Amino acid sequence: MSIATVDPATGELIRRYDHLTAEQVEAALAASAAAFTRLRATGYVERARWLRAAADLLDAERDDIAATMTLEMGKPLAAARAEAAKCAIACRHYADHAASYLADEPLPDPSEVGAVAAYARYRPLGPVLAVMPWNFPLWQVIRFAAPALMAGNTGLLKHASNVPATALYLGGLFTRAGFPAGAFQTLLVGADAVEGILADPRVRAATLTGSETAGRSVAAFAGRHLKKTVLELGGSDPFVVMPSADLDRAARTAVTSRCQNNGQSCIAAKRFIVHADVHEPFLAAFVAGMRALRMGDPADEATQIGPLATASGRAEVAAQVADALAHGAIAHCGAVTPGGPGWFYPPTVLTDVTPTMRLWSEEVFGPVAAVHRVHSDAEALALANASAFGLGASVWTTDPAEQDRFAAELDAGAVFVNGMTTSFPQLPFGGVKNSGYGRELGAHGIREFCNLTTVWAG
Ligand code: NAP
Repeated sequence: MSIATVDPATGELIRRYDHLTAEQVEAALAASAAAFTRLRATGYVERARWLRAAADLLDAERDDIAATMTLEMGKPLAAARAEAAKCAIACRHYADHAASYLADEPLPDPSEVGAVAAYARYRPLGPVLAVMPWNFPLWQVIRFAAPALMAGNTGLLKHASNVPATALYLGGLFTRAGFPAGAFQTLLVGADAVEGILADPRVRAATLTGSETAGRSVAAFAGRHLKKTVLELGGSDPFVVMPSADLDRAARTAVTSRCQNNGQSCIAAKRFIVHADVHEPFLAAFVAGMRALRMGDPADEATQIGPLATASGRAEVAAQVADALAHGAIAHCGAVTPGGPGWFYPPTVLTDVTPTMRLWSEEVFGPVAAVHRVHSDAEALALANASAFGLGASVWTTDPAEQDRFAAELDAGAVFVNGMTTSFPQLPFGGVKNSGYGRELGAHGIREFCNLTTVWAG
């Protein structure tokens, strides 16, 4: 696959990039290992100063990097700016909290183990390979890089092949902010180079955010080479609406959740599971909201939904919808691929989706919603959990007993009650089942790539 910037709003090739040679990859690995020796010898105060400087750069350069993201993968400009702002917040969060997240954990009574002192200490692991997707091209990388660098690890970024300019920006950001040269580098390589890099003994671990297919492949390489991994994979999140819900707010949030990032978010609500008592009014409000979205040039400030990022991504979404319609699903809006340049696909709402259809079980990475009707909380739970994925879930009910039941029984890495599933630097983020394993963000995220060392002193 070529590494190139192609404008998804027009299909125009903007620039093609050369893949790194084997010698250049070797030099980057050597630089990463050397930088690790320097970085691990620094303290949290120094690293925090550099990370705050990176946050300041992200703020100062927000408009430029936002425009680059919009050009490369088509997200509306306002969303791109918000993504850059969130990255700066995450950098400051880890600058402020890494030392306490990674503080020694002493055993209260060391005499129990015959010691004068006994504690667990978080130490860095070394160079970590990050294989990243294009959909939040800045955020996905920063949410790995900020904690990894604060922990004293170095990072090697293999970004998605369609966002090379964003990848190169990230490759320069941390050294410009003061981190040692080589502490965070971008490798312009294809997916076929990942196993060789992961096999290198200098690389200690890998994190991958992307599709289930890529996750299985990288987990297999990592198993072969005995490297720890964190996998953040796809999702088909349920959005459950019960009779007591605030229907207006639920329907408005449903539109935002399904269509944020042009429908290409792992934690977008994709399956809408609605109690029969409120199914008709919810569907009407939801369809009206989906129809009202302004689709167009993502660089235009008025645009709410831009193109899908790739031609193949749009073809896949169109094929999933065609399959559903051929098997009896009903389209309430959208469902027609527009002519003209760019890879646009309209907000689409389908009902009567059944298990024979691809849409029932597959992730849909575009603005397509399946709305189901259920008759009880038990039926809603069963349908919500009838997915191979388990990333996030959103539940709309004001009944405390229902809230408790859904929070306890939904198979997901996050349950949001009366709100949209999202990520915060302060809270752990990750999935179960085919959505992956391990956690990013919060205290748990920074500990994933540490050597938790037991220290016993007699
Ligand atoms: P993707 O095709 O899986 O690509 C992700 C990254 O993996 C890219 O850098 C890609 O490189 C690389 N890759 C692909 N196949 C590989 C292989 N066999 N071996 C090694 N590396 C490989 O995913 P995407 O289309 O960029 O992103 C969309 C997917 O990511 C969706 O499924 C979405 O739900 C998921 N996602 C999950 C999260 C989360 O936090 N759970 C967040 C965002 C997105 P190339 O580009 O060079 O192929």
